[in-house]
Amino acid sequence: RKLGYAIVGLGGYGLGVIIPQFKNCQHSKLVALISGDPAKARRVAAEYGVPQHGIYDYKNFDSIKDNPDIDIVYVCLPVSMHAEYTIRAAKAGKHVMCEKPMAVSSAECEAMIAACKRAGKKLMIGYRCHFEAHNLEARRLARAGHIGKLRYFRSEHGFTMGNPDSWRLKKAMSGGGSMMDIGIYALNAARYMTAEEPISVYAKETTDRNDPRFREVEDMIEFQLEFPSGVIASCMSMYSANQNHILLMGDKGRIDLEPGTRYDGNKLWVGQDRGNQITPPPGPGQTQWAAQLDHLSLCVINNREPIVPGEEGLRDIRIIEAVYRSAREQKRIVLT
Ligand code: NAD
Repeated sequence: RKLGYAIVGLGGYGLGVIIPQFKNCQHSKLVALISGDPAKARRVAAEYGVPQHGIYDYKNFDSIKDNPDIDIVYVCLPVSMHAEYTIRAAKAGKHVMCEKPMAVSSAECEAMIAACKRAGKKLMIGYRCHFEAHNLEARRLARAGHIGKLRYFRSEHGFTMGNPDSWRLKKAMSGGGSMMDIGIYALNAARYMTAEEPISVYAKETTDRNDPRFREVEDMIEFQLEFPSGVIASCMSMYSANQNHILLMGDKGRIDLEPGTRYDGNKLWVGQDRGNQITPPPGPGQTQWAAQLDHLSLCVINNREPIVPGEEGLRDIRIIEAVYRSAREQKRIVLT
């Protein structure tokens, strides 16, 4: 059985990445689009076989409640709009997939979780790396003891932000700079690779405030997480260079991913250095996105909790808030 998805936001990710993935899914299909641009919505609908009655805009969005074809709403909007559309979707009786970062604040994340609980609907965050073959194999090898006892984790994530007018650089729309958008990959990986929750954070930010891109949000932020086992994670997030790397160091070797969290072309090495490159077994779906989309469909069909529920998104946002506070107050923050 295939559940019906409505995609909200036909931008770079919703239209460019997610919509073309339904052809790779076994339990998910595209049935509706929500867009502020009627001509674009009609064109995309025609290309992907979405019926006329499956086209909505932001004003008539709530009438999705009368469309039984829609089981799940996938929120692919700027971060400041995640909470509103997640809550409206839940009120319309739909399950929700919401993109990362979950929302601009932990208070919003809590409201989203509460709204979906009240409506009896599932809420999952678009953490695609939990379905990506190289990440899954790295995590399996680490847990199976292939590098001995894990001691240290390192991850740098960044890209060169070009467009100074991007919503990603407007604090009210993004909630913050590189940390919210790309540093979150390093943070989330530190948690899923170690299978631990950090107990403290220490962060340092450096941003050229004369750069027109960085009037409102940070460029570079370095943050250190301390885990209960004694593992230290040292992470870096930036908007001024391309970096995509995850490294786990154990007392018997290391696991290295570079790039680690890209759409394609991730690479994995295991051993003392980069001598031993590994091809991971296939992931759970034809692609990481097909696996992600089908996971939520199957959770709905079988009434199970997603492996990356709203609570997972909330955890990251709480830690990001502590990262910002640590950088601002220049002190170590103990996480509670
Ligand atoms: P984008 O700017 O390309 O698209 C945003 C869409 O929202 C556009 O269609 C735009 O028209 C629409 N929109 C509606 N109201 C808007 C408003 N008031 N201001 C601006 N846009 C408005 O952004 P994107 O790259 O597609 O990102 C969307 C979401 O997807 C973000 O949460 C982002 O973090 C996430 N994302 C996730 C991944 C991933 O790998 N998981 C990758 C890219 C983006």
